[in-house]
Amino acid sequence: MEEKIKAFIINYMKSDKNTMKLIDKPAFSEPAVGFSHGDDELYSFYKQHIDPDFYKLPSEWLEEAYGHPFSDKNISVISWVLPHTDDTKKLCREQTDCPVMEWQMARVYGEECNKNLAKALEGYFNELGYEAVAPMCSDKFSWGDSEQFYLVSNWSERHTAYISGLGTFGLCDGLISVKGKAVRYGSIIVNYRLEKTKRNYSRYNEYCMSKDGCTACIRRCPADAITSAGHDKKKCVQYHKEVIAKVCHDRYGYDGYSVCGLCQTGVPCESNIPEGIGQR
Ligand code: SF4
Ligand code: SF4
Repeated sequence: MEEKIKAFIINYMKSDKNTMKLIDKPAFSEPAVGFSHGDDELYSFYKQHIDPDFYKLPSEWLEEAYGHPFSDKNISVISWVLPHTDDTKKLCREQTDCPVMEWQMARVYGEECNKNLAKALEGYFNELGYEAVAPMCSDKFSWGDSEQFYLVSNWSERHTAYISGLGTFGLCDGLISVKGKAVRYGSIIVNYRLEKTKRNYSRYNEYCMSKDGCTACIRRCPADAITSAGHDKKKCVQYHKEVIAKVCHDRYGYDGYSVCGLCQTGVPCESNIPEGIGQR
């Protein structure tokens, strides 16, 4: 079953559904897939750590979607990484204030494809007779304010990818995955027990080279939102509001949803786990 799911995700992203729409290019290249169990203690840890009244466990997502209880022991979470294409990353590396239109289109229309992939997987499991839910497509997905973390969501794709063996966090808060940090993530929860992916790490930031003196993402950030102490979400959000939207309008004539993410390209963890790390 695990191989069939991987093939489903890879083939979906090989299809013409994987498109930037307004630019005739695919949004993402070949995905990586990981699996974790609903009763993994890290899900409970995140719930307690983020906000027990807000963050939902995999079983709670299924319960809300289907209106009856589920046992954590039967549940799996399928997590995937969608890497930006080499073309998009190359173009972004040359930018210093705002990523190119390809990056923006992948964020908007690539993300639409990401959600459609999650819905297609839900349908795949439903047809097989299993319940499945994609939190990012659910009307129960929400963001909240947090005194400790500034902004939090009730399901985190990056934390799910971490639990599912796909990578560890970097200084800038991005997840350094097996396909690097210039990626998007997705996941679904299913009432079917899959074999979990081994986590080849024990520390939350094992793949980040900041402890060895890497400062590349600090230098890439035009908003001074990354320091050796980590990522300042407030400064980052402010830069998005005050600069990114304006540059997209002035430079590209684009007024839709826009994002930064310069710290994800032109860095040693852009497209892979930095060399010599995590290769055990
Ligand atoms: S650029 Fe360097 S310091 Fe920043 S997340 Fe990547 S490895 Fe860590
Ligand atoms: S997204 Fe942009 S503003 Fe935010 S931390 Fe990364 S480089 Fe800085």
